[in-house]
Amino acid sequence: MADNESRLPPGCVDEAQLARTQEETQLEFAFLAAYPRLSGCGPIPGFSQQALRPWTSGRCLLSSQPHRSPEELALEREVSCHLPPGKVLHLQLTENRYTIISVRRGRECYRVRVHRMFAGAEARLVRALARYVVHNDQRSSTLLSEFIEKHQDQIRRKPSAARRPVLRTRGRVYDLRAVLDRLNARYFDGKLDLRITWGTARRRQPQRSIKVGTYLVEDRLIRVHPVLDQAHVPRYFLDWIVFHEMLHGKHAIRRVGGRRCFHPPAFAREEKQFPDYGRARLWEKANLDRLLSWEP
Ligand SMILES: [Zn+2]
Repeated sequence: MADNESRLPPGCVDEAQLARTQEETQLEFAFLAAYPRLSGCGPIPGFSQQALRPWTSGRCLLSSQPHRSPEELALEREVSCHLPPGKVLHLQLTENRYTIISVRRGRECYRVRVHRMFAGAEARLVRALARYVVHNDQRSSTLLSEFIEKHQDQIRRKPSAARRPVLRTRGRVYDLRAVLDRLNARYFDGKLDLRITWGTARRRQPQRSIKVGTYLVEDRLIRVHPVLDQAHVPRYFLDWIVFHEMLHGKHAIRRVGGRRCFHPPAFAREEKQFPDYGRARLWEKANLDRLLSWEP
């Protein structure tokens, strides 16, 4: 039934296509599903690629929901007030971790699944939600993104082992704890409260790139690729990689023109002040092939 279902990022909805699809619904009973998505350099919980997960096609509109909470009914009522005449809303509150808002636009009804954080939201958010449901408009989508980011803490954390990784700081050559503490004291007045670990060495296919350091925002955790735990890797290079990831711990991710900016100008300026910045970049260039061909 949802053969010509399409998914568009907010603000990219083609009104002509919307109208076309709504006409087609008479024949095909298809939905235009638009999922919130923001472009950027990384996933945002709530607006990640996983938000594009397709709906199960043919899902029953009035699925058996024996009990509906008062908050769910209240939000449904509030959003309904802003719908065009003749349209019906079926709203469901979820505890989803990735798909925070999803909308299916039918000929007569909107089916909306929205995270519980929206229960009891203030009137302007409810209006924005309604505008997003009906028009998929850019301004409301920005407002909703901001609201979601502000209420990240309400998204239930996955209680898996991944949330509490075992930290392995002592390598064969380098002790990351010592590296982190030294850099923290020297460049950050010892104020950065971060964790660090060596990543897991895996057998790999030959690669064209290698991620030598990563920073996990939620865990405030730096992960360093074990390829750097070798005697031929100079300390200043490892320092620079860890320093870069520490800067991620210091600088918040900015939003510039709707895009997330991981390396804002202040970040880049500070990184260049690292005394071995030039030397480290040169070493990286000269030794990239050696790093890429590394085997655990
Ligand atoms: Zn970075």
